[in-house]
Amino acid sequence: MILVFGEEFERDVTYELVALAKRLGDYKVVVSEDFDDIDGDVIRVERLNWKVVKELHDRFKPEGVLFANAPSGMDLAPKLAGITGIPMVTNVIKLENGDRFKATSLTYGGKVLVDLEVDKPSIFVVNRGYYDPNEGRGTPKVERLDLDFEDDVELIEVVKPEEDVDISKAEVVVSVGRGIGDESNIELAKELAELLNGVVAGSRPIIDQGWLPKSRQVGRSGKTVTGKVYIALGISGATEHVEGVKAKNVIAVNTDRDAPIFRIAKVGVVADVNELLPVLIEKLREIKS
Ligand SMILES: Cc1cc2nc3c(=O)[nH]c(=O)nc-3n(C[C@H](O)[C@H](O)[C@H](O)COP(=O)(O)OP(=O)(O)OC[C@H]3O[C@@H](n4cnc5c(N)ncnc54)[C@H](O)[C@@H]3O)c2cc1C
Repeated sequence: MILVFGEEFERDVTYELVALAKRLGDYKVVVSEDFDDIDGDVIRVERLNWKVVKELHDRFKPEGVLFANAPSGMDLAPKLAGITGIPMVTNVIKLENGDRFKATSLTYGGKVLVDLEVDKPSIFVVNRGYYDPNEGRGTPKVERLDLDFEDDVELIEVVKPEEDVDISKAEVVVSVGRGIGDESNIELAKELAELLNGVVAGSRPIIDQGWLPKSRQVGRSGKTVTGKVYIALGISGATEHVEGVKAKNVIAVNTDRDAPIFRIAKVGVVADVNELLPVLIEKLREIKS
């Protein structure tokens, strides 16, 4: 049996864990919040803390435990591994069940993929963006367990980052990188995004310079975009950036024909983004009118 611990602070990733668990065999999902559309057996608890995690682990003795590579998963998984001595694999992007578990893990900052075989039981911390959250939605069979263990950590307040728009869910993302040159050129990218009913995002240097808010950052330390189209304007395609690009179609514009971003692009345009953008916007306006 697979035991899934839901993510308290970034709910959507819980559905991805369930989508994975469904492929692995029988599973139960433990959540502390009011999830009403998780597919399968759901155990609802007052709060998810490490004592609850340990208690449920001891009760069900699962062959595999799934946590998300997200705030509560990253907090609870190492605690469970430490207490139980069960091996833990992090940054998992693929997992299969057999006599042993076969896991693929992204290491060295996403530069190296490692295939591992691990004994049962094992704990896995799964990266987001690799399993379809829709596969995790369905009709739950809810069981309520009163495991109100006192915590040695008091949760005073959950402060969520201000988020104007969720780029991870947008179907069209127009993303700008350092190649955009000047802050004022971001307006052109915003215009393009608007014409395509999309949202604007950026690489880390753009966010670090304060040209766009943190909620718009794509990549390892930002968000993973999963929509239909990702338009990368003047973005080199560093590993840390590309890790967050899981859109179905990538269109890249770059002056350097050898830029790594072209490796993941379905359509590549070797051009100066600031020359191309006004033309593109004009053409789109023409088509729209
Ligand atoms: C731990 C860690 C975490 C990180 N997390 C992230 C993250 O979450 N997201 C992220 O993005 N980065 C992240 N980074 C940074 C990452 O390594 C890169 O430095 C960053 O992605 C580069 O951004 P860029 O492509 O915009 O800039 P650059 O690498 O400087 O690339 C600019 C590109 O624009 C092209 N260009 C220049 N002028 C033009 C023009 N006029 N028209 C068209 N193209 C032009 C250039 O050829 C170049 O390819 C992280 C780094 C570390 C170490």
